[in-house]
Amino acid sequence: MRPVNFSPGPSIVAPEVLEQAAQALRGVPEVQGLSIVEISHRLPWFEKVVQDTEDALRRLLGVPDTHTILFLQGGARGQFAQVPLNWLLPGTVAAYIDTGVWARGAYDDAKTLGDARIVASSANAARGAYLELPDVSGLELPANTAYVHTTSNNTIYGTQWPTMPTFGAVPHVSDMSSDILSRPIDVSQFKLVYAGAQKNAGISGLTLLFLDKAWMAAARNDIPSIWQYRVQDANDSMYNTPPTFAIYTTLLVCRWLEELGGVPAIAARNEAKASALYAAIDGADGFYRGCVDPRHRSRMNVTYRLPSEALEKRFVAECEAAGLHHLKGHRKAGGIRASIYNALPLEGVERLIAFMQAFRQRH
Ligand code: PMP
Repeated sequence: MRPVNFSPGPSIVAPEVLEQAAQALRGVPEVQGLSIVEISHRLPWFEKVVQDTEDALRRLLGVPDTHTILFLQGGARGQFAQVPLNWLLPGTVAAYIDTGVWARGAYDDAKTLGDARIVASSANAARGAYLELPDVSGLELPANTAYVHTTSNNTIYGTQWPTMPTFGAVPHVSDMSSDILSRPIDVSQFKLVYAGAQKNAGISGLTLLFLDKAWMAAARNDIPSIWQYRVQDANDSMYNTPPTFAIYTTLLVCRWLEELGGVPAIAARNEAKASALYAAIDGADGFYRGCVDPRHRSRMNVTYRLPSEALEKRFVAECEAAGLHHLKGHRKAGGIRASIYNALPLEGVERLIAFMQAFRQRH
């Protein structure tokens, strides 16, 4: 039976996309049959790949003309540093909503560059975990807040904002690494959305950015050129050599998504997968226990526990033997984590559910 890949990232890529990417690795007919990885990013063929990728992302997520789309490197962690480097000026405050390991990582980096503050947190001191999201409805931000930073989906603990919070006129920056393209978003609400591509949007090595142009113009211009968004933008993300193969793979992912019916269609499919899996967890008479507050459950990373760590170990091992891979929870969270990103088919989730029922009966 085909293996099912529940890896948290880099993670499953649709077989059709992998096949087309493999073909391009072997040779691209439009460029004398040379491999995608051995041609210049300056060739018109590749410039069109970049343009087509941008156009497809604009269509898929309705990215407005106010926002530029950038293709950068350095991953989401690169953005943990680049954002404060550009906008956290002396006398201003960067406000972070602390909802998990990655959110905290973004704050930790900002703090090395200026006055970064955690303005809301759902860290559970007693349990050393993040099992819910904080209430930010009445949140008061300092008057001189440069931006507020959120993480849309918390990959490790498995929480996700059901709808993204808003902060009035204060610039909102969001790390959407683990749920980009999985559901509709209103990009106009954000000054910056960034996401590593390696979960829902392609492979590692590429970071996607949707950046408000006016906000970009207000960023610092006294830092090294490579870290200035405006420089990257003026050079169409090709100021330095871009990750050509990763961008091409993202184009293939976008085409695959458009063929499936776009973001609303994949969001419905994701909802069906997640609800089926949570229903299986909740319907197991306590044998399986969801880790996080049901109001904030992620549609991407489903985390749960078994009655003991010994059983969890056994569960993971038996899953591996049954072709259900990478279900072990993050070392910080423990337990089980099923990452069910866009490319994971409903049948994969159904196989996991059937396995869970059989495992429970055996133990
Ligand atoms: N943010 C989130 C939400 C993530 O899930 C991850 C990676 N799992 C990161 C940031 C770090 O991404 P990268 O390795 O691309 O820097």
